[in-house]
Amino acid sequence: MLTGMKVAVIGGDARQVELIKNLCEWDATLYLVSLDNLEGDFPGAQKVKMDEVPRDELDAIVLPVPGTDDEGYMETHFADESPRLTKTWLEGVKSSCLVFTGITKDYLTNLCNELHLKLIPLFDRNDVAIYNSIPTVEGTIMMAIQHTEFTIHNSNVTIVGFGRTGKSLARSFHALGANVKASARKKEDLARIFEMGIKPIHTNDLSKEVKDCHILINTVPSPVINVKVLQNLPQHALIIDLASKPGGTDFRYAKKRGINAILAPGLPGIVAPNTAGNILATVISQILLEEKGERSS
Ligand code: NAP
Repeated sequence: MLTGMKVAVIGGDARQVELIKNLCEWDATLYLVSLDNLEGDFPGAQKVKMDEVPRDELDAIVLPVPGTDDEGYMETHFADESPRLTKTWLEGVKSSCLVFTGITKDYLTNLCNELHLKLIPLFDRNDVAIYNSIPTVEGTIMMAIQHTEFTIHNSNVTIVGFGRTGKSLARSFHALGANVKASARKKEDLARIFEMGIKPIHTNDLSKEVKDCHILINTVPSPVINVKVLQNLPQHALIIDLASKPGGTDFRYAKKRGINAILAPGLPGIVAPNTAGNILATVISQILLEEKGERSS
């Protein structure tokens, strides 16, 4: 049990609901910030303002999955104003306090480094990213269906990137009967793609391989869907860019060419918030229990 542990949950999307329920069941004391419009009964949780959180008593802070932007602002689907994580606020936290996020960028990483706080980007963990790829794939299939007028079966689908999400996408679209090409840059990944009965392409060669593409799905968080690739992509192709903001697509040029390119962040939180929230809750609870065990031993 997490009895006696104090956790601040700041902002976030529907995934946070399951996480909060879970932490309440484990008997943690929760401070919910920028979650004013959250409905439901959460025993042991209280809604507070950022400056009302007893920062020096916190064992953990749970930030929204995307972390913060370059100025410390965070997303919330349950309040009108975005909360902001500032250095002054975080300075009031004790050094043993854990900071959980899904992903992290420079602002958050630098702030935690500077204050010697342990930052835990959950999606850096393979287990979390692989579990999370399940609702991500389902959301991507949903988008492909919503934005095309043809079946996935027998359509030409290019998956860019063969990491934890790319692998799950390649296998699922292949199983749905699409003609899948998957791109990677490591020889071992290209070999695995071949072994799966999928056409491997080197990510650097994408521009030569997209001439007959109907749906292009990007998972590479770098500008790989560039002008050269877009020039060779048919105008009627659909791009679903899953990579973290700003994505890997030159959206300006895609628009100029009349290609429907969609940046689709946070699909697990949209299509399966309970599952996605549970994935996060399980790992956070495990880490907090380990932490509690270590402190009391
Ligand atoms: P991952 O396991 O790290 O995979 C990333 C892939 O991109 C790997 O194949 C990697 O190749 C490749 N890559 C990275 N930088 C590259 C570059 N400069 N040039 C060519 N290839 C490059 O990450 P993941 O867990 O699959 O997640 C992928 C992205 O999707 C992340 O941005 C993540 O935040 C996002 N995501 C979004 C959603 C959503 O709902 N939209 C859901 C889950 C994840 P190497 O292995 O060779 O480095």
